[in-house]
Amino acid sequence: MPHYKIAIVGAGPSGYFAAQALQNSVTEDLTFSIDMIERLPTPWGLVRSGVAPDHPKIKTVSKVFEKIASEPNFRLFGNVELGKDLSLEDLTNRYDAVVMATGSAIGKKLGIPGEDLANSISAAQFVPWYNGHPDYADFKVDLSGKVAVVIGAGNVAMDCGRILALDPKELDETDTADHAHQDLSKSNIRKVFITGRRGAEFAAFTAPELRDLPKLEHTNVIISKSDIDAAIVAAGDAPEKDVKSNLDAMLAIAEHEKTSHARTMEFLFHHVPTEIKGSGQVQEVEFKTPAGQKVIKCGLVISAIGYEAQPLSGISYEKGKVLNTDGRVKDNLYVVGWAKRGPSGVIGTNKSDAAGVIELLISTLTTPKNAGDINDLIVAHKVITQTHWEAINAAEVASGEPLGKPRVKVADKDELLRLGGF
Ligand code: NAP
Repeated sequence: MPHYKIAIVGAGPSGYFAAQALQNSVTEDLTFSIDMIERLPTPWGLVRSGVAPDHPKIKTVSKVFEKIASEPNFRLFGNVELGKDLSLEDLTNRYDAVVMATGSAIGKKLGIPGEDLANSISAAQFVPWYNGHPDYADFKVDLSGKVAVVIGAGNVAMDCGRILALDPKELDETDTADHAHQDLSKSNIRKVFITGRRGAEFAAFTAPELRDLPKLEHTNVIISKSDIDAAIVAAGDAPEKDVKSNLDAMLAIAEHEKTSHARTMEFLFHHVPTEIKGSGQVQEVEFKTPAGQKVIKCGLVISAIGYEAQPLSGISYEKGKVLNTDGRVKDNLYVVGWAKRGPSGVIGTNKSDAAGVIELLISTLTTPKNAGDINDLIVAHKVITQTHWEAINAAEVASGEPLGKPRVKVADKDELLRLGGF
């Protein structure tokens, strides 16, 4: 009976769904050992460090990941970095196939003057900061100004805007990183603009996220009705289903009864950013609008305009993605998730995506290699196995319990290793 060893690099949603697709393909005549390799001491990728802390329901998919991890043919190798602790070749030589599930971690650049001024940051920094990602434990964002501008009209822009504009008390019972919760509690920001460069009919938000906004108890949410009326006309008589749902949700916000909270989040459309200005630090953003040039004074700019994959040696990239054909990169190397198709879709999108790639991978398997595995390469390394991770997970959840939080996230890498038992 052929038994194949498969390595998956990256313990985010697309990695777990690739593992699940392999597990679902097991038959009496075909079995797999699955080794998942993750740079951080913690798995779950964007479910841990991307999904907004005030959206706990989305994180319940981690239960699916834990079920996959509990299967006897699955092993986690956390705190092991490809390119540092081992090379891609080390893996492709030993495993029958290697699946890259490394996502897209780098924020796209606007390419406008002033983008690199202090406090002009990327969502790719802000989001992992408030979510306790170890790489951003020491990141600093200045929240002393009254106004913040978020550039982009997608769900990540909305997450950033919402985290800045909600009453920090609403984060008390969430797993927001302690350092971020403390800073947000002292924040002076009272007005947040979320700016789209095109009309609302092109906004990349999704309707469920828009429909949640009026539920914010301490934030005025403003969308101009004339903007949405114009977008409805521009979308025509038969708009796509998603566009219609979005416009309906935005119209409901625009028509929502006015509130008078101290904090406001306002959506602006047809605002093309042209320059960020300030002496030493952000002071204003200049936009081109249909009415001409417009300046918004602000102390913080967050660009949330999409992501690119972090390049890895031995792999070719094109437009921020791993160069691939239907998920096959070359020889026995495959790619899934955002690294394969770019930063699009919700977490569940990765399930069908990974299933397709694993089907292709299986169709190309020949004689099993029997050439060893990762254990040959990282003998003296502090590897976070599933058991170590379960200890970290239990410790975080236990610290959260008396505070009414789902967990208290540990952002310090050494402390994570200590909780894991090292
Ligand atoms: P996105 O959905 O692709 O949105 C990117 C936004 O940036 C678009 O509005 C785009 O406008 C704008 N943009 C791009 N380049 C720009 C530029 N140079 N200047 C100004 N604006 C620019 O990306 P995302 O928000 O990063 O989200 C990534 C994926 O994760 C999406 O599929 C999203 O739905 C998903 N996600 C889901 C959730 C959730 O379900 N709760 C939460 C977060 C993220 P144009 O359309 O004009 O290019």
